Amino acid sequence: MSESETEVPIKSLTPRDLAREKPTPEPRSAEDVVFHVEDLVVSYSGKCALRGVTLDIQRNYVTAFIGPSGCGKSTFIRCFNRMNDLIPGATVEGTIDYHGTDLYGPDVDAVEVRKRIGMVFQKPNPFPKSIYDNVAFGPRVLGMTDNLDERVEQALHRAALWDEVGKRLKESALSLSGGQQQRLCIARCIAVEPDVILMDEPASALDPIATTRIEDLMQELKNDYTIVVVTHNMQQAARVADMTAFFSVDVGQDGDRTGVLVEYDTTDKMFTTPSDQRTEDYVTGRFG
Ligand code: ADP
Repeated sequence: MSESETEVPIKSLTPRDLAREKPTPEPRSAEDVVFHVEDLVVSYSGKCALRGVTLDIQRNYVTAFIGPSGCGKSTFIRCFNRMNDLIPGATVEGTIDYHGTDLYGPDVDAVEVRKRIGMVFQKPNPFPKSIYDNVAFGPRVLGMTDNLDERVEQALHRAALWDEVGKRLKESALSLSGGQQQRLCIARCIAVEPDVILMDEPASALDPIATTRIEDLMQELKNDYTIVVVTHNMQQAARVADMTAFFSVDVGQDGDRTGVLVEYDTTDKMFTTPSDQRTEDYVTGRFG
């Protein structure tokens, strides 16, 4: 069945309704901290885009970053696999420890970082190659070519795509629907056995059915991976995330706009009884 033939679920619940139904996530201990972020500041050509962020990301949780456009969500998520290194003029100050190692330390290889910490973008970006070659790309680059067929198959299974593409692996990835292409990008990410998957608005270019599939997949994948997701869709954050961080924009006296972390807590708390009035206003749709 194609994605468009599937019945469209009715989703009229507010983020608060969805969060009320959510069980509080299982508590984590100090050993479960994957990233410890301390006083992070990111600037572009000397202009501060995000300042003073301190938080921990926990293992096998889905953590969502929400907030109005321009508050630094994408800037922040790019710090976790050093993607900002690739942006001329971008500087990162403060610390991000990854399993206790300074991610920005002098001995850390950014390529190795991006192998362990994979990323999926807003717009599906498969290579103009076959479905197979897309998934095999990372393992080939990294010399992980033993049992490559098996590795490709397993990644496609884990990305919930095998049943749809298993018999046409030689076809172009560009022949797939948008939702399938995004799951292919997730399979490509999984094929190199990452520890963390970063997703920057992974469903915002997709229709509601494809979006639901990505959300279901995130719930599956968190059993094996730690997932961090940027989303502008609050229902999505309320449905999928264990923890939610709300960012906002501070406007200085000189008119400069800087992203700040307002509040970070379990998703049920963030959406039902947040501590900060700005979070309350945002999650109830009164602002942003
Ligand atoms: P969000 O993801 O919350 O919409 P962004 O991280 O994209 O926010 O942007 C935060 C701020 O950083 C904005 O003011 C934006 O203009 C600026 N910014 C983001 N990316 C770049 C870049 N590559 N070069 C210069 N400024 C950037």
